[in-house]
Amino acid sequence: MNQTSNDSQGTIVQGLAPFQMSNHTIRQCKIIGTLGPSSSNEETMRELVKSGLNIARLNFSHGEHDSHLKNIEMLRKISKDTGQTITILQDLQGPKIRAGKLIGGAIELKNGDIYSLIFGIEQTDPKVIPIDYKDLVRDVKVGEQVMMDDGLLILEVVEIKKDAVMVKVVEGGILKNRKGVNFPDSILSLPALTEKDSKDLLFGIANGVDVIALSFVQTAADVAQCKKIIQALGSDIPVIAKIEKVSAVKQIDEIAQIADGLMVARGDLGVEGRVERVPTYQHKIVEAAHRHAKPVIVATQMLESMIGNPRASFAEMADVANGVLEGADCLMLSGEVAAGKYPVESVVTMDAIIRNVEAWTKTQPPKYKSDVPWSADVSWEDNEAIAIAACEAADSLNAKAIVCLTLTGSIARSIAKWRPHTPIIAVSPRKDAVQRLGIVRGVYGMQNPLFYNTDVLLQDLPNLFKSLGIVKSGDMIVITAGIPINQMKPTNMVKINRIP
Ligand code: PEP
Repeated sequence: MNQTSNDSQGTIVQGLAPFQMSNHTIRQCKIIGTLGPSSSNEETMRELVKSGLNIARLNFSHGEHDSHLKNIEMLRKISKDTGQTITILQDLQGPKIRAGKLIGGAIELKNGDIYSLIFGIEQTDPKVIPIDYKDLVRDVKVGEQVMMDDGLLILEVVEIKKDAVMVKVVEGGILKNRKGVNFPDSILSLPALTEKDSKDLLFGIANGVDVIALSFVQTAADVAQCKKIIQALGSDIPVIAKIEKVSAVKQIDEIAQIADGLMVARGDLGVEGRVERVPTYQHKIVEAAHRHAKPVIVATQMLESMIGNPRASFAEMADVANGVLEGADCLMLSGEVAAGKYPVESVVTMDAIIRNVEAWTKTQPPKYKSDVPWSADVSWEDNEAIAIAACEAADSLNAKAIVCLTLTGSIARSIAKWRPHTPIIAVSPRKDAVQRLGIVRGVYGMQNPLFYNTDVLLQDLPNLFKSLGIVKSGDMIVITAGIPINQMKPTNMVKINRIP
């Protein structure tokens, strides 16, 4: 297998390793794994990547900058050594409210027991639970519910004191350090980004993360505010809006329009909304992302039992399969990879399920053949016509790949929106564009500095791909480009090429 290489023309070939494996079909739906104590070491990370991990999620609700930096450095090294693109997703904590550090790391909450919720980050008294939200006493009312640890523990507000909210345990259990706390009945005045998020964002941009995820988005304005801050920092890093509040589901089209992607954050969504509504919320969010040609991630509890068991349950396998069938660009593993006993096995399992589902979907008519309305956004129409033409040509010719020459990756996303059976190779001079496309279904990127010389690139690509073992004589590829490229034209050409 080819590793990272620099050919005589200075072409950097990285990210196409999946195409170079003989007898290997290209998996279209991508796998995200959250790094944590079970996976933050080089050996495990290498195994995860080898097993199919495409995107590493750094969860800034946990860990220090030092440990995140070590992970970033290890991931970049592994990517360079293996030739695999590893997209780094920085997940900002957002205004998520959490319990503080507990004496002994955990406490048992027994039904009927009374606790004080007090603003703080460390437990100093066994009957006090520190909560990191300073306006608790002002915003919470008697009779309202408090949920902890993704809704596993339920408490009820029984009294409001000067600096404490008194709660009674309704459904008890073990509360561990830093678990999430939700107030589904309360109206809280939360900012889009906390002070910690701003510091973390600065760290992420400075250290070259590829994509940002913004937690607890309530409105499109929250995403706009985050993008404004990113722009002020001199970056255009994409922002994924994590949909974990019912208010966000209600404005999903406005959010999908401004965000660069969506995440169905089912853990908090199931706590903030009603758990039985999560599957329909998921469907609505995935559909909205497709309407706006934005990538969408389905997250949380996908293979939850694999935190402790080497095998997933059938229900979990069906959940993963459903995510693929619904059209998710990425499926995300959290505790399974971050803190479980079987991080690598979890990725292996997810990879196997996705591949099996995709083998079946390839026997079905692709999305661009079904009756899907065109985007409401008129500016997309040229792109969409090109995208559909490329999909049709590639699938009907049984092409090896749709190759997009693209500066920002936008045409690759437009093509991916139509879910062709053919995988997409995006060739861009921008390394950041290639890295960012890692979260888009079926798209694999390759940086190529010859991009601006259309004639040379169009002429050389078939031979270059052949020499890399991506295609062989007689194979077909479909190329899209905006020519002349050096005039920065939007995509205006679809070319069919048989490999000599
Ligand atoms: C979720 O709530 O499902 C989620 C992905 O967010 P977090 O892991 O930050 O709670």
